[in-house]
Amino acid sequence: MQEINSTDFEQEVLQSDKVILDFYSTECPPCEALASKFEDLSNLYGKDIKFLKIFRQKNRDLAEKLAVKSSPTLLFFKNGREVADRLTGGIKRSDIIRNLDSMLPEEKVAQIKSKIRPSVSEYDVIILGAGPGGLTAGLYLCQAKVNTVLIDISLPGGHVSTTHEVSNYPGFIEPQAGYMLSHNMSEQTKLCGTVYKVAVDITRVDLDKKEVVIDEYETVRAKKIVIATGTTPNLTGAPGEKELKGKGISYCATCDGKYMDGKDVVVIGGGNSAVEESEYLTRFANKLTIVHQFDKLTANKQAQDKVFNNPKISLLFDTEPRTFIKEGEKIVAEIENLKTNIRQKLTCDGVFIFIGMKPNIDLFRDKLELDKWGYIKTDEDMRTSISGVFAVGDVISKKYRQITTAVADGTIAAMAIAKELD
Ligand SMILES: Cc1cc2nc3c(=O)[nH]c(=O)nc-3n(C[C@H](O)[C@H](O)[C@H](O)COP(=O)(O)OP(=O)(O)OC[C@H]3O[C@@H](n4cnc5c(N)ncnc54)[C@H](O)[C@@H]3O)c2cc1C
Repeated sequence: MQEINSTDFEQEVLQSDKVILDFYSTECPPCEALASKFEDLSNLYGKDIKFLKIFRQKNRDLAEKLAVKSSPTLLFFKNGREVADRLTGGIKRSDIIRNLDSMLPEEKVAQIKSKIRPSVSEYDVIILGAGPGGLTAGLYLCQAKVNTVLIDISLPGGHVSTTHEVSNYPGFIEPQAGYMLSHNMSEQTKLCGTVYKVAVDITRVDLDKKEVVIDEYETVRAKKIVIATGTTPNLTGAPGEKELKGKGISYCATCDGKYMDGKDVVVIGGGNSAVEESEYLTRFANKLTIVHQFDKLTANKQAQDKVFNNPKISLLFDTEPRTFIKEGEKIVAEIENLKTNIRQKLTCDGVFIFIGMKPNIDLFRDKLELDKWGYIKTDEDMRTSISGVFAVGDVISKKYRQITTAVADGTIAAMAIAKELD
């Protein structure tokens, strides 16, 4: 692996056979997360593909010329021409391998793969998921001198890192940018000494053996496991939804309702969450339209009555969203009546989608005792039905899912584990 400057670009990149080039920055957590993967892969592929690094801040002109807009960004070159997809953000080992393999003949790829040696590492505790619950468990365990590894399929932070502003986390007078709050939580846990393995693929989880295999070849073992994998909101799948998440489309009324003072809001959904959250949102919103795919609400009668008696709320039944577009500060939701197929546009200040959340438990669904909604059942110390396996945060069966409650769960699990390991 070699470090270059922009003056070397012509010779080292454009005049070389095959190159992977890493634009990195300092004080960049995703760059730190990439560094060990990059080095490891350079040992595997380095004879066939040149591994180069370039410091983006010092080589801004070249970065701009190549339209590199964030760190880290990986670029792939073959015979002086850029090939394969650019990779940026929380870059996974498997994505780099896919691009590297696409630059080599099949026999060469097979030869390289045969050199991969599986590795095994041992810890006291594995935490799966580095959102507020997992990060807090990591912090408490680390401070109790328990050897802990945090594993996440993305970069640390969980939902908080994509939340626009957080104003209900105690200790801050002003609302905090979600990414800063999660960054601070993550740095605090990392600086304490917790080992991070982030932006990895989870190949297999064996809760009985307390064993997690990541990126196919790396086995991580421990005495205890904490599951802190959170939830994923169900999406409508309408074009524009993913792009506008956190930029006008929200999945949390407690979190973003207060920014809707005097505004017009559209709510998608008709179950208990949609109806109860709509009622809550009218504390702020001037006007609220519920868009629901069925011909009646599916929420309980009491909640429905509140909505029907609320003059700020109107309902559109048999209707589904088709697209979401940002027009200036407004969101335009195009909706379609499923009976007449007539489409219309609703212009509003914010869209809230409440069509359910799903706990992230696919890797261990069959193993644990779950509640009827699929959330993990725990006791008051966060123990699950499997000995030595704990669960914390949004993924567990409970009534309120907030940062503070996830943090509290993480604290309790860590203290219980530290005591057991003593
Ligand atoms: C849009 C939005 C805004 C919100 N705003 C607020 C707010 O303002 N205030 C507030 O208190 N609460 C807010 N919440 C709720 C709050 O974010 C959650 O309650 C909190 O983040 C839960 O923390 P957690 O650690 O349990 O899970 P998460 O934050 O969901 O973190 C889970 C982590 O696990 C990782 N993961 C998932 N699957 C796996 C796997 N198989 N293996 C390893 N890792 C995995 C994920 O990548 C993620 O990093 C908001 C939620 C949303 C969706």
